[in-house]
Amino acid sequence: MSNSIRLGVIGGGQLGSLLCVAAKKLNIETVILSDDKDGPAQKFCDHFIYSKYENNEKIREFISKVDIVTYEFENIPIDFLNLIEKEKKVLPNPKINKIAQNRKLEKTFVNELGINTTDWTYIKTAEDIKKNQHLLPGLLKSNTLGYDGKGQFVLNSLDDVKQDWCFTSDYILEKKVNLKKEISVIITRYSDGTMLYYEPIENIHKNQILHKSKIPADISEKIFKDAIDSAKKIAANLSYIGVLTVEYFITANGKLLVNELAPRFHNSGHLTIEAFNISQFENHVRAICNLNSMQIKKISNAEMRNVLGFEIQKYKKRNLKKNEFFYDYQKKEPRDGRKMGHLTVLKD
Ligand code: ADP
Ligand code: MG
Repeated sequence: MSNSIRLGVIGGGQLGSLLCVAAKKLNIETVILSDDKDGPAQKFCDHFIYSKYENNEKIREFISKVDIVTYEFENIPIDFLNLIEKEKKVLPNPKINKIAQNRKLEKTFVNELGINTTDWTYIKTAEDIKKNQHLLPGLLKSNTLGYDGKGQFVLNSLDDVKQDWCFTSDYILEKKVNLKKEISVIITRYSDGTMLYYEPIENIHKNQILHKSKIPADISEKIFKDAIDSAKKIAANLSYIGVLTVEYFITANGKLLVNELAPRFHNSGHLTIEAFNISQFENHVRAICNLNSMQIKKISNAEMRNVLGFEIQKYKKRNLKKNEFFYDYQKKEPRDGRKMGHLTVLKD
């Protein structure tokens, strides 16, 4: 195993932090580039560079300090990733990023593979919504830059389309699904084509933010198999390298739909740190740094709870039981709805 790889990570939040911890275990040096001066990953990485995404001295420094670049979130300007790619390898490939940060391109890509999503259409004007009333009740989602339910509006009927709305950006309109359940599949693909996946994880959202994740997911064998097969198909088709997360809806009548793709490790995969021999973060580092792959072995069932906002104060004082593992992301300020930490509980 090479121990001389310097891994650049764009983004300094909790996902970046947890990636740095996994890299350290593999003797890989990490350099974080964060546009947030207070990014908590500075406490976990070897070098921390604070800079906006522009071609400047700090970016030159980042590029010169690393061998490979990855990222903790997908909403990074593509031009910026392309700029880096001219000099250093960026994995997962920015082409994938372009798809995953644009709901229209993402759903088109998934549908063209013969995989179902919700019914949807592309929206530029209020008139487009009128023409697509069959999708109401629905969710109008900003085509780019949404996360944790941000940039989404529920449209029960045309009355909800406000007169004063100006459509300055583009949207998609998605039919509202009667959800039975949500699951995610986290799959790792190595450059030799090896694919390793965790069993589907069941996700419970509150106010469109992930609240809890657990394994085993309470799903049929058929849904289990179909979810893994679709994730494999997507990863193979993209010649993907690294960890990919596929979020799914299971409808009240039992249909499996892809909700969205995240070209990265995922909040729902935090339980992999304790519940499996190799975490999603370690798998990502291994795959992008071209290290050996290792079979995934499950250690335990588990449940992960997100700690949001001011809840963190209570959790910091908690006496942990022997099956409980707590992560304080060490963010400077709690804010309502902000992900501040998580607790994983191992179960029989
Ligand atoms: P984000 O990019 O913010 O994660 P998602 O599209 O995944 O956006 O939406 C966040 C959550 O909102 C989903 O996990 C789901 O709980 C709910 N949601 C989104 N779209 C729909 C839909 N079409 N029908 C029902 N619930 C939805
Ligand atoms: Mg989502």
